[in-house]
Amino acid sequence: MTSSRPYPPALDAGLEKDRLSQTIKDWSIANGLAVRPPPALVGQNQDPEGILAINAPVTLFPSPFPKSCFEEAKAIQTSYNELYSRISQDEEFLGRLVQEVAGGDDFIAKLWDIHLKVKEEGYVQNLSLGLFRSDYMAHQDGAHLQIKQVEFNTIASSFGGLSAQTSLLHQHLAQTEYPLLNDSIPTASLNLPTNNSAQGLAAGLHAAYKAYGESTLGHPTCVIFLVQDGERNIFDQRHLEYALQRSSVPVFRLPFSQVLTHTTLAPTPSRQLLYHLPHSPSKTFEVAVAYLRAGYGPGDYPSPSAWEARHRVERSLAIACPTILTQLAGMKKVQQVLATPPTLASGPSTLGKFVPDPARSSALWKTFTNIYPLDGESAAGQEARRLATDPVECQKYVMKPQREGGGNNFYRGAIPEQLKTIPEEHWNSFILMELITPPPLQNTILRQGKLEQGGVICELGVYGTCLWDQETGEVRHNEEAGYLLRTKGDQSEEGGVAAGFGCMDSVALV
Ligand code: ADP
Ligand code: MG
Ligand code: MG
Repeated sequence: MTSSRPYPPALDAGLEKDRLSQTIKDWSIANGLAVRPPPALVGQNQDPEGILAINAPVTLFPSPFPKSCFEEAKAIQTSYNELYSRISQDEEFLGRLVQEVAGGDDFIAKLWDIHLKVKEEGYVQNLSLGLFRSDYMAHQDGAHLQIKQVEFNTIASSFGGLSAQTSLLHQHLAQTEYPLLNDSIPTASLNLPTNNSAQGLAAGLHAAYKAYGESTLGHPTCVIFLVQDGERNIFDQRHLEYALQRSSVPVFRLPFSQVLTHTTLAPTPSRQLLYHLPHSPSKTFEVAVAYLRAGYGPGDYPSPSAWEARHRVERSLAIACPTILTQLAGMKKVQQVLATPPTLASGPSTLGKFVPDPARSSALWKTFTNIYPLDGESAAGQEARRLATDPVECQKYVMKPQREGGGNNFYRGAIPEQLKTIPEEHWNSFILMELITPPPLQNTILRQGKLEQGGVICELGVYGTCLWDQETGEVRHNEEAGYLLRTKGDQSEEGGVAAGFGCMDSVALV
């Protein structure tokens, strides 16, 4: 990019900032790049009718991202989809890892118990749907930039709806606003790839919906989104719903907390999941696909009835996105085992076992960074315990429990402190991961109407959709499904948009 000022530009003139901000504020609401406001912003009980929406936090400019890294991440997504579908089929492998972490992790232990209960009576649905997201940061290795995987999400992978809109916003600004800036940036040279994340994820849900077939009970079939109460990131989900509805698929939102109230299960052996419309209970739909945007953390299971709800979904004929096995395939422990290099003693790598094709497995392997177990027995575990408890060495690491949704990790100096509070026999519930340090970048974030300018860190997510048969291993659908760029201030450890630190962004390929 040849520019008279660096890209993205730091805006200094007040009027420039004001006009750009105003355009973003209006475009975002007009196009559903929005979230419900946090109570702290509007005041408790100030929006009793639930009518308010605010801009999702977003960068003023798409962040520069290396083209080779972006293309590599997109190209390997279908291999990642297949890898995780195979892990999900290997119950023995997952069971072993669950045993390793379950001592210090009651949540994982309970998920596994539900799986065992359903296995005992027999699963009635062999098809399994994954709407995945593989997250990366660009890592500088000398002059070479290489994507390194942060994590792989197998449940409630969010922001596909808002991400497509963010790409459209930046494309709109490149056409209308950037050329008007003083000392304008050469927008013709901005390489902004299209992003079909909302369509792509909806296509995955649609594939599962079609594969389910017609109801043998004579009901219309539907897709059901199981959601959290008081979800603020609702428009992200709505974009997927609308995309599905445009293909004439009936879609309903059901709070996870109300599954037991508004569904019933047809008797064994068929066990269809029947959804009774809350305000007209005589209207019944058969659930073809149960898409979970809830149920990924302990907070969604405040009582035994929530576990009963999960059990009902898992044992039903509905195609679950995800099943419990697929959810567990997303444990950070799985990622650590995959990233463990083969040794003479342990034989071939776990990755090689799941992905025998050498070209494919080495393409995946390149995206791994060092991840260690924290057990007291293995040599790797003992080394990791030394690194994690050393006040200097720990500065290079992040320690993660088997959790999703942001805000659960311990960084750098907080690691030894945290370990002091946990009995040593439970340290193995965590993994220790080397911190990835992407090249420094600058951008400006518009958050709740205020501009934050400074150093930022970008995290790329690539979506993937996969529908497979747990029994035969047959893959019915496997696609790469668009991308997400999330950006956070470089002083923040966590980058979750929902958790309140990160913001939406899109890539300008360089
Ligand atoms: P979660 O499943 O809760 O999203 P993540 O593994 O994605 O957990 O960690 C949350 C955030 O922490 C990431 O979005 C990223 O900003 C930061 N993070 C996690 N692992 C690393 C790492 N190895 N290097 C640098 N930052 C990391
Ligand atoms: Mg995650
Ligand atoms: Mg994450």
